[in-house]
Amino acid sequence: MPIMMGCIADDFTGATDLAGLLARSGMPVSLRIGVPDAAPNNPAAFEVIALKCRTLPVDEAVVQTRNALAWLKTAGATRFFWKYCSTFDSTPQGNIGPVAEALMTDIGTQQTIYCPAFPENGRSIFMGNLFVGEQPLAESAMKDHPLTPMRDSNLMRLLAPQVSGKVGLINRLTVAQGTEAIDARLAVLQQDNVSHVVVDAVADADLFVIAEACQHMPLLTGGSAIAMPLPDLYASATTSPAQTQTQTHTQPRPATDKAIVLSGSSSAMTRQQVAHHADAHPNLRLDPIKLAQAGPDAAIEWLTQQDLSQAPMVFATAEPEQIAAVQQTLGREKAGEIVEQALARLAVVARDRGASRIVVAGGETSGAVTQALGVTRLDVGREIAPGVPWTFAHSNGHAIALALKSGNFGGPAFFDDALQALTPA
Ligand code: ADP
Repeated sequence: MPIMMGCIADDFTGATDLAGLLARSGMPVSLRIGVPDAAPNNPAAFEVIALKCRTLPVDEAVVQTRNALAWLKTAGATRFFWKYCSTFDSTPQGNIGPVAEALMTDIGTQQTIYCPAFPENGRSIFMGNLFVGEQPLAESAMKDHPLTPMRDSNLMRLLAPQVSGKVGLINRLTVAQGTEAIDARLAVLQQDNVSHVVVDAVADADLFVIAEACQHMPLLTGGSAIAMPLPDLYASATTSPAQTQTQTHTQPRPATDKAIVLSGSSSAMTRQQVAHHADAHPNLRLDPIKLAQAGPDAAIEWLTQQDLSQAPMVFATAEPEQIAAVQQTLGREKAGEIVEQALARLAVVARDRGASRIVVAGGETSGAVTQALGVTRLDVGREIAPGVPWTFAHSNGHAIALALKSGNFGGPAFFDDALQALTPA
């Protein structure tokens, strides 16, 4: 099957989220961690490359994404998707805008859209303003994010300082008028040299209309939800009915009942999930200051004494004021790195002790964990919650299942939901 779309995601959970939604179509989806060394033979219809570039310096993020684009082009892709978080996680410098602009140059296209909306998960855009549930982004818990605090809700204002081209909007009133109205508005904006077009969407139906109108663009950018209608749109345009037949995911079952939950996310929903799991499972809270002083040996010792059949949990999850205090002592980056590296070490220890299911909360944290496990390719399985599939990989000779969840995804019982959704053979 020819490659239908090449996707680049700015973090690991973003990539699994995107891969999971694309896989809902039944089409083969392959998720690669980092840019593979070798050119692919027999690429999947949808190739997703997971990078870890959300908070890298802009130049490094641009280099990484351009390399990913080059690999996808070699694989035969002619349409591309730049995936970032549905809460537009970025700093005033980037990396959403600079990467989009670099990709546009390399692809040779003048215009793209920005649509991080994910209505199913409570992210909607109205008049260019991003909402999390009923709250404007800047009033949501994202205002206190450890790495990318979001202090403005207006996507045009957030994007403008990140790009050199003009920024515009297709608002909900136009989207409500349908694909032709969107096309017409895009053409007007293009005439006015507007390269970066934020598009409002408040419901799934909007995403379908936007995807239909924009399916011919060589580059689309957004959250995962705007990509969800694309497999069907592309398939009906380019393939025979036999090729569009939906396939059922054949999911491997874990070999053991041993599992571990690792949380480096302090997002509001993760805090609830950690509290919920702590009620009924052995758990250990990591103190970043102690980790900085004494390393992770005490946590490793604790883990080696646990019965992994009880799905123990290790977490650094904390309240915003606790995180602020830690960051003041250690610095934001250092604190993040210490926690990520500790959780990554614990994942390796758990794997070597036979954990065949590893649940990770936190986008950056998931990146560190998969890196430590030496995982470079994941086969995408069924979703546990919207945007979070189980994925399957090999790590140092062990077959493992990974559930990689970014901050606010899943319900309060997500960790148990994940474990119950994938029980041993
Ligand atoms: P999310 O998906 O919720 O954004 P991430 O893992 O992407 O979660 O980001 C959370 C960041 O916060 C990580 O770099 C993590 O190491 C860091 N972190 C986690 N716990 C703490 C803590 N107690 N103090 C300071 N930083 C922390």
